[in-house]
Amino acid sequence: MHSLLAPLEENRRSATAAARRVPVLLPVALEQTYDYRLPDDVEAPVGAFVLVPFGPQQRIGVIWDRAVGESPKPVTDDKLKVITATIADVAPLPVLSMRFAEWVARYTLAPLGMVVRMMMGAPAVFEPSKPRIGVVRNKEAAEPTRMTPARKRALQIAADGLVRAKLALAAEAACSTGVIDGLIATGTLTEVAIPERRLPVPNPAHMCVDFSAAQAAAVHAMRAAADAQSFSVTLLDGVTGSGKTEVYFEAVARALERGRQALIMLPEIALTSQFMDRFAARFGCAPVEWHSALSPAERARAWRATANGQARVVVGARSALFLPYQDLGLIVIDEEHDGGFKQEDRVHYQARDMAVVRGSLAKHAVVLASATPSIESHVNARSGRYGFVGLPARYSGAQLPDVATIDLRQHPPERGKWLSPQLVAAMTETLGKTQQVLLFLNRRGYAPLTLCRACGHRIDCPQCTAWLVEHRYRRRLTCHHCGFALPIPEKCPKCGEPDALVACGPGVERIAEEVAERFPQARRALLSSDLVPSLIEMREIIKKIEAGEADIIIGTQMVAKGHHFPQLAMVGIVDGDLGLGQADPRAAERTFQLMHQVTGRAGRALAAGRGYVQTYMPEHPVMQAIISGDREAFLAREVRQRQSAQLPPFGRLAALVISARDKELAELFARDVARHAPPAARIEVLGPAEAPLAVIRGRHRWRLLVKAPRELDLQAYLRAWLTSLPKLPADLRLTVDVDPYSFL
Ligand code: ADP
Ligand code: ZN
Repeated sequence: MHSLLAPLEENRRSATAAARRVPVLLPVALEQTYDYRLPDDVEAPVGAFVLVPFGPQQRIGVIWDRAVGESPKPVTDDKLKVITATIADVAPLPVLSMRFAEWVARYTLAPLGMVVRMMMGAPAVFEPSKPRIGVVRNKEAAEPTRMTPARKRALQIAADGLVRAKLALAAEAACSTGVIDGLIATGTLTEVAIPERRLPVPNPAHMCVDFSAAQAAAVHAMRAAADAQSFSVTLLDGVTGSGKTEVYFEAVARALERGRQALIMLPEIALTSQFMDRFAARFGCAPVEWHSALSPAERARAWRATANGQARVVVGARSALFLPYQDLGLIVIDEEHDGGFKQEDRVHYQARDMAVVRGSLAKHAVVLASATPSIESHVNARSGRYGFVGLPARYSGAQLPDVATIDLRQHPPERGKWLSPQLVAAMTETLGKTQQVLLFLNRRGYAPLTLCRACGHRIDCPQCTAWLVEHRYRRRLTCHHCGFALPIPEKCPKCGEPDALVACGPGVERIAEEVAERFPQARRALLSSDLVPSLIEMREIIKKIEAGEADIIIGTQMVAKGHHFPQLAMVGIVDGDLGLGQADPRAAERTFQLMHQVTGRAGRALAAGRGYVQTYMPEHPVMQAIISGDREAFLAREVRQRQSAQLPPFGRLAALVISARDKELAELFARDVARHAPPAARIEVLGPAEAPLAVIRGRHRWRLLVKAPRELDLQAYLRAWLTSLPKLPADLRLTVDVDPYSFL
């Protein structure tokens, strides 16, 4: 019998082998799928996550819905490797996510596998899950014959029939877990898996907001956009405090009413408790959060909840865009101009732009909100490519703060100090009215440079082209590029002279020191990412500031974003010129946005706020725009400049960065890369030039910049270029950054 059956089975297998052959995409730096055979007794839909043999390893990949890339020689059916297992309990990756991944890979020139790896950004999802075990009262079982007071307490609590973790029940009953084990042994309590807590469902009708006339028009536009089953991008452009959040919440409400998921993206650090509280006030419960401070288990939970649709609204940082939404109907990008939406490693993508792409693929609405829109979005709205909704006034009726420059050439601070007499006077006056003051300096640490007075040596990083920054509070000199650190030396590391090292220039810690000297009575709050160890602590400090438990707040970029401090009346920008010196086409734009944002913190609730910008260049157009409040004039000027220089969004840029440990190799190869640039009439290749940050982590860096007209297929050009290159020597790295935001 066997001998007869065996060949039959073989036949059947080969007849269906084609049907059982599936392309699998692996989350590795490769562009293509590999074919595997699905075992006969296993059903796995497109998008299923599967464990497959890959080289010597077993890896988790995704069954793609079509073959991608070509394998050099197709594997015949009989040589196909077999899928080891399917990952149960994980919803398949939606086909839309596949299309989106392919699009992002094509656009950024990142390997498709790396984009999919981002989409699988919650490793714990794919590990075998161990259900948490709890105990529950077994209603069939009688009370144990031997009753103790502890047993009695435990059974009284368990009488409600709820499942509790053993530890939790023991704690509640004030007994040891041994008592609980005893009750399990007698059969009175039964062990069961603890069901995962269901996520609360945001209720679009939880609160009804009364909108002003201007807001109502904006709300109407928002709702209409979220309502249409079609792709749209709307720029929600409104001054700080105009109610943008309140207004775009209505778009979220509409998406929820229609049973679709919504995503709100914020620059990472602005995932403040304040925002979460406002969301909860509007929708009755917290949204699902997605950011870098989540634990692996929290990540897994959020990932699963987006995939199975339980997560109705996700509030997240840029990578939230790559979650496997079951049915996403709306994306809101708040502070859309923020540089934090650009990812600078592995897959170089701009989350705002990719959100627009996702919207066009999935035919849903995208809302970009900002008080200082990026030039890109501004131009798109002006040209009619994006819709435009404006909110010109603050909801409270409060005026935008009056901003003045303080000319440091005429009113310099005393030696060794950083706050000019004018700024100090304004602070004194504000504090006298028991109002809050915010001092902003976008520089962490105590001093950006440590210099030897005896020999002139500047202490720099051994592996980067950068000075070490003194962090006095932590008693260390630190490199902000590679993390290298050493204890603050007592004598000059070069000449050995003791007591000759001097700190040059200010960081926020030094400003805090000066504030303590000048205003010893004032309560200070220092907010800098390196000083606030955890998200929870940061949220506590922010809450204290909101509650008025600080008089002077000193902070870096961290304080600029999203917070609303009701008692803040005055803002001082310690160094308005800081961002302007850089060779970066967006330097002016960024400085304007940051200063506008920071000064906009003042007087949000109070009648009048004041802003002061210390500068050596009060006549600079950015300073003029800040003090006149004439944003339109500034935008018009920036747009003109970008247009005449054919910079984004009028032209397109891509950066190629070549790096190697060996100095010569980096330069030689960079020149070789440049020589291989395909000739193209309208494409300009600038460089290679040594990067401004010539060495990072011991790697020597060279840059090339590609400039192309908007309508040209820059990616096709780059791809042709890259394929023409010789094989990369070992240790050489070449990264491509399409639409670069960093030029260092
Ligand atoms: P933006 O996002 O533009 O900075 P917000 O949405 O944060 O503005 O609004 C600023 C303040 O005004 C917030 O405290 C908000 O709750 C309040 N606010 C705005 N619109 C309304 C409204 N229609 N009714 C009640 N409060 C509002
Ligand atoms: Zn370094």
